[in-house]
Amino acid sequence: MKDKNKVTHTETEIKQALTYIEIFEPADEKNCNGCGYDTCREFAQAMLDGKARPSQCSSLAKKVINKLKKKEKQLRDNLFFHQEIIDSIPIPMVYEEPNGAILGCNKSFEELVGSAKEKIKFTKIEDYTSNKKFIEILKSMNKSLLKNPGKQIVEIDLNTSKNEIRTIEFHRSTFSSRTGEINGFVSVFFDIHDRVKEKQELQKAKDLSELSSNLLKLMSSGFVIVDKDMKVIDSNNSFAKMIGEEAKLISEINPGLIGADISKLLSFSELFSQLLESGEKRISKDININNHLYKVSLFSIKKNTVVGAILKDLTDPEVNTEEIVERAESVIKENLETVQKIAYLLGENASKTENVLSSIINK
Ligand code: SF4
Repeated sequence: MKDKNKVTHTETEIKQALTYIEIFEPADEKNCNGCGYDTCREFAQAMLDGKARPSQCSSLAKKVINKLKKKEKQLRDNLFFHQEIIDSIPIPMVYEEPNGAILGCNKSFEELVGSAKEKIKFTKIEDYTSNKKFIEILKSMNKSLLKNPGKQIVEIDLNTSKNEIRTIEFHRSTFSSRTGEINGFVSVFFDIHDRVKEKQELQKAKDLSELSSNLLKLMSSGFVIVDKDMKVIDSNNSFAKMIGEEAKLISEINPGLIGADISKLLSFSELFSQLLESGEKRISKDININNHLYKVSLFSIKKNTVVGAILKDLTDPEVNTEEIVERAESVIKENLETVQKIAYLLGENASKTENVLSSIINK
């Protein structure tokens, strides 16, 4: 049917035609007859004559199919990789079309709403909450973000799938196509419930600490708290007045005499070191300071670490010494417990933050 010996085209034209079917070297010419021609060159001539099309080359068709398969695998691998990354984020996130229809989400979001990805797709965030205020906020955010693309953040209380109310920091931002058009929204739900509660507890603890400290400062009896290095942690004005003019002057510049060396302030400071070393619960002694007789009651606040002392003017008939000591001890201990609680809360917060950061970094 073909005139095999007829050469109607130049070698350059044939070579050029062969490149259309991805034959660039003589070694690439398979001559498999898959196109109905005995050789690739005959097929090239037929193409040049307008009698054949590149798609008739079965070898080229196989190459194209293999390339498509390879590309499809790459796309699947890429999708899997991106989903894995999104799933590894320990914070619920979801991305939606501009009309709010959910395109995808991560595992944390599935847990938050108590549903699987496949069921979540094409639903809306509004479908998972009855919180009217949040729905209103969402609508207003969408409107505003579509007008001014970017990011917005709101803090709101939301019900979880476990029927718990949690304080959430809701972040919503737009994402765009390569041409810059808004393609949808990405939302992230940061659970800040524990942080908010801790902040409130911290504030309460601080207020309580201030209150008890102020109460001690108002007492007519002297009080002082000393650490294991014999440095003053706190004291009241009455204490400074009782122990002498110099201490009184220092307390005007340094209220509470904080950090002062107790051994330089008192002639009986050995009682503090004795209690700190022995870990005894209490020592009481009548001591003469500047021609005034005081009942000095020392007590251990934290064994071998912190000692407190109450100085009662024995010439003052109005106050019962034992009662003062007991009440002051109780307030001081409460004060220190509060301070310890604050330190614990701050430590726990730092540890939580570190854990979250580590979990993200280690992913
Ligand atoms: S099918 Fe393609 S490779 Fe096979 S002979 Fe025809 S042109 Fe050559």
